Amino acid sequence: SHNLFETFARRMHERGDADFITTREGRDYSYADALAMSARLAGALIELGVTPGDRVAVQVDKSPEAILLYLATLRIGAVYLPLNTGYTGDEIRYFLGDAEPALFVCRPAAVEEARTLAAETGCPAVRTLGTAADGSLMEAAAAATPHEAVEPRDENDLAAILYTSGTTGRSKGAMLTHRNLGSNAATLAEAWHFSETDRLIHALPIFHTHGLFVACNVTLMTGASMLFLAKFDADMIVEAMAHGTVLMGVPTFYTRLVADPRLTPEVTARMRLFVSGSAPLTAETHHAFEEKTGHAILERYGMTETNMNISNPYNGARRAGTVGRPLPGVEIRITDRETGREVADGEIGILQVRGPNVFIGYWRMPEKTREELLDDGFFITGDLAMIDEHGYVQIVGRDKDLVISGGFNVYPREVEEVIDEHAGVVESAVIGLPHPDLGEGVAAVVVPKPGASLDEAEVLGHLEGRLARYKQPRRVFFIDSLPRNTMGKVQKNQLRQQFQDTYQ
Ligand code: ATP
Ligand code: MG
Repeated sequence: SHNLFETFARRMHERGDADFITTREGRDYSYADALAMSARLAGALIELGVTPGDRVAVQVDKSPEAILLYLATLRIGAVYLPLNTGYTGDEIRYFLGDAEPALFVCRPAAVEEARTLAAETGCPAVRTLGTAADGSLMEAAAAATPHEAVEPRDENDLAAILYTSGTTGRSKGAMLTHRNLGSNAATLAEAWHFSETDRLIHALPIFHTHGLFVACNVTLMTGASMLFLAKFDADMIVEAMAHGTVLMGVPTFYTRLVADPRLTPEVTARMRLFVSGSAPLTAETHHAFEEKTGHAILERYGMTETNMNISNPYNGARRAGTVGRPLPGVEIRITDRETGREVADGEIGILQVRGPNVFIGYWRMPEKTREELLDDGFFITGDLAMIDEHGYVQIVGRDKDLVISGGFNVYPREVEEVIDEHAGVVESAVIGLPHPDLGEGVAAVVVPKPGASLDEAEVLGHLEGRLARYKQPRRVFFIDSLPRNTMGKVQKNQLRQQFQDTYQ
């Protein structure tokens, strides 16, 4: 059978009493504990009526037990469906209605609302899971007969449905198979030289592909261990680096660490790898981190629908501002926005990817699936990219963020990089706003450094001569911080809405 859990379980048995997950509070699970507890949770799921192929929807705060629930779900052949802890009742109603799970696991404090939502959407069971190994699901597991068997699965059976971050519109449920997850975990483990001696500092949320699949599946594949932190906290990261070997982070982790005076070569001496992804890491942060620690951050590129596709090398140059080369087994092509034909290296186009990591479609969205998953197996990522002179891929931005002003393409990231070079600027977001003559007019939203005396004329003056006229924003707005989601993604939709009337 191709149940991903079998692959994990082989390694878990070998690792026995070795650490799997530890926490600062000392709630630790060895691999043997994790096998035993996942069997108990599997027993509880079965007693609750969950059968193979059923969805198990989970909206809980981060805890080791949530990962054991993921393993238990795989073990019984059901489909794990994690939900962002930030979703409100209305959003949860949509996801429960869309996914029709057999069970909804929620936070203990949210159980009343969860019961109402479950009743409204026809979800037959609700249980709770807290962060102190508490909740009615844990009680059910304690009372359940452990289910040691592993449900046989075909490699194309679903292992998980993961909703996309909703950066460009309504979140879509990506259907991921045992093969999708297993192949990518094996590929990443090898590419990034993971082994059982690794100790991953885990400070990401576990409802997103980065913290759930990249981090946990690679750990399980290799028998490494994870130190679970509830969230990013510079104090805790600095402390953890004395024991850890790898950190996986979103770019904001690194910009905050770079600003921390405790970031030194000594503090990071035991670490062997820093990985960044989920949003673009600026070249500036990459260089600053290297200067302060001697470590070159390894940036990689992926998404909910595909896991990871492209990565800077473990050995060899990790180039700032690029995401590296396609991972083994992953093919890419870059196509013209208009004609769909492949473009030459050095030219910008839409990035498409193909490989065993690519999902099988959007849950209950056959049309959307047909639009984005082509007959030949390539998936249209919606990101603009180019292959540079080193054969490395540069992500230029999202196709939906491309600004077309007076018929000219303006790539926001290019403009942002020039704005960010100004000494008084922390960061910026460039957006297109409706414009009566130009179609779209370029605008910049800038976060000034504290104490910097920056005004619109100053920013525009800085761009004069550095960028072609059509790329220069016509208006500059100032803001205390850019709106970001938990994965560090800038929410440009919000900015476009806030400033929509600028040129009207
Ligand atoms: P939605 O698809 O719902 O609009 P989303 O695309 O933000 O949301 P995710 O699947 O979480 O949802 O994010 C994948 C996207 O994140 C990629 O398509 C890409 O735009 C961005 N991304 C990931 N890694 C990188 C990176 N290293 N550099 C630049 N962008 C990245
Ligand atoms: Mg997307």
